[in-house]
Amino acid sequence: MELLDIYVYGSPLLKRKTRKVGQLPDNFPQFLERMYATMYDDNGIGLSANQVGVDLRFFIVDFSLHDKNMGKEVFINPEILQREGVDVLEEGCLSVPGIREKVTREWKIKVRYENIQREVIEKEFEGYLARVIQHEIDHLNGILFIDKISPLKRSFIESNLKKIAVKGKTQTEPFSI
Ligand SMILES: [Zn+2]
Repeated sequence: MELLDIYVYGSPLLKRKTRKVGQLPDNFPQFLERMYATMYDDNGIGLSANQVGVDLRFFIVDFSLHDKNMGKEVFINPEILQREGVDVLEEGCLSVPGIREKVTREWKIKVRYENIQREVIEKEFEGYLARVIQHEIDHLNGILFIDKISPLKRSFIESNLKKIAVKGKTQTEPFSI
């Protein structure tokens, strides 16, 4: 399967809020398979649409990489309804390769989203899973995890970010499904 191009830091598409998903295109299931293949290839646990250049509000996860009892899931038009508690943990991102930083997030969240059958789901997540979902919803709102660290820490990684942005700045065209 042909892998998708991962849009990295510096691409304007990662800084824009994505569009709400209306009717899904016919080839959506096939496109999801390509997204999963791309995510696994890079050892990711989650991947948002705009990380592969698609201006739509959805992301994929495979929680089985963290918890064997869970699996693949698509979150369409997700919104966080409630947030609770605090948790600090190191994060990375396929769009910011080679950089890991501690990020403060809520411990527990309640999310409303549509699944692949377009059923509206309301569900609570906590700990690591809540973190992944917050990270991906941030993507859909044009926010990267490095936007949430202190200016001092950010200054330490600025030269690495500039190197990543050399590629990112060329990724200006959206990818259409
Ligand atoms: Zn990310």
